[in-house]
Amino acid sequence: PLILAIESSCDETAAAVIDGGEVLRSDVVATQVDFHARFGGVVPEIASRKHIEAICGVCDEALDVAAASLGRSRLRWRDLDAAAVTYAPGLVGALVVGVAFAKGAAWGADIPFIVVNHLEGHLYANKIGRPDFAPPAVVSLVSGGNTLLVHMADWGDYRVLGATIDDAVGEAFDKVAKALGLGYPGGPVVSKFAAEGDPDAIPFPRAMLHSGDLRFSLSGLKTAVVTYINNERAAGRELNVPDICASFTAAVVDVQVAKARTALRETGAPTFCLGGGVAANPTLRAAYEQMCAEEGVRLVMPPLASCGDNAGMIAEVALDRYRAGAFSPLSTDALAHGDLEVPY
Ligand code: ATP
Ligand code: MG
Ligand code: FE
Repeated sequence: PLILAIESSCDETAAAVIDGGEVLRSDVVATQVDFHARFGGVVPEIASRKHIEAICGVCDEALDVAAASLGRSRLRWRDLDAAAVTYAPGLVGALVVGVAFAKGAAWGADIPFIVVNHLEGHLYANKIGRPDFAPPAVVSLVSGGNTLLVHMADWGDYRVLGATIDDAVGEAFDKVAKALGLGYPGGPVVSKFAAEGDPDAIPFPRAMLHSGDLRFSLSGLKTAVVTYINNERAAGRELNVPDICASFTAAVVDVQVAKARTALRETGAPTFCLGGGVAANPTLRAAYEQMCAEEGVRLVMPPLASCGDNAGMIAEVALDRYRAGAFSPLSTDALAHGDLEVPY
């Protein structure tokens, strides 16, 4: 089959076409980040409006690129076998744009309609360019809204082993960047400075490291960084931004790696995977390479471009749902919340 998948859960408008050989024939992302940056975070109303402006062009481009890749002069909606879309979780006003658009396409072209959970998409990002990859695996899903350790027994069979009790990891990166005046989003810019800093310069707390479970807490670390910044400024000292970024990252990574190691030992899973925007962090990726080598576990990571929000990962889920005949009625609505453990 040929399936077009749409993603609009946050501030990326994205569309991708996948074929039956699991090859992504196109994978287009239009980010709105510049429109949100001056507000220091995603503004839901702006996100919705920008999705409406971008979605036709993004879908046209995904169809055109796929047509070229398939050696066809053109690809129309009626040439597709299904229209798929992220329906949950996310900003409901953003999701509804993609959902309404995909429904319209499915209705107009008289093809099946498939809905996809965004977090399941982040898990499936590990499949992109790696059709041999299969569960069981432990997955660390670290994004702007989530911090989860998931045991993936099979595709569609997930158990959350632990989650953050307060902020998400990506959110902590964004808040630290904001406190340092580095703009939004924080992850990429903090990574850049961290590369030049000393990770041992400042002993930031490793929250929940010895909690005896797989839960995380990030809000205390963020407060510790902000307090450190305020104290340095009050003392009239110049901030060493690279050292702060490197030390903050080290505190995050130490806890992430320790809990992932425990999860691997407890489940006996042969494979460890990453997902979500923070999975692009080079320090985190390097630390996991070392940990997995020590544990004798296979490490599978999404391509860098597929860590943050994209439609390629949604298309990967959609293909499995298509094969299972998991089509949805056009009355299906967008939802702000969507539990990974609950089938849909
Ligand atoms: P969710 O998937 O939970 O709904 P989201 O879709 O908003 O949330 P993603 O788009 O997957 O989240 O990831 C965005 C987050 O990733 C942001 O918080 C951003 O700062 C963070 N991020 C991006 N690149 C990096 C990096 N190199 N290092 C650390 N964090 C990063
Ligand atoms: Mg985003
Ligand atoms: Fe996401």
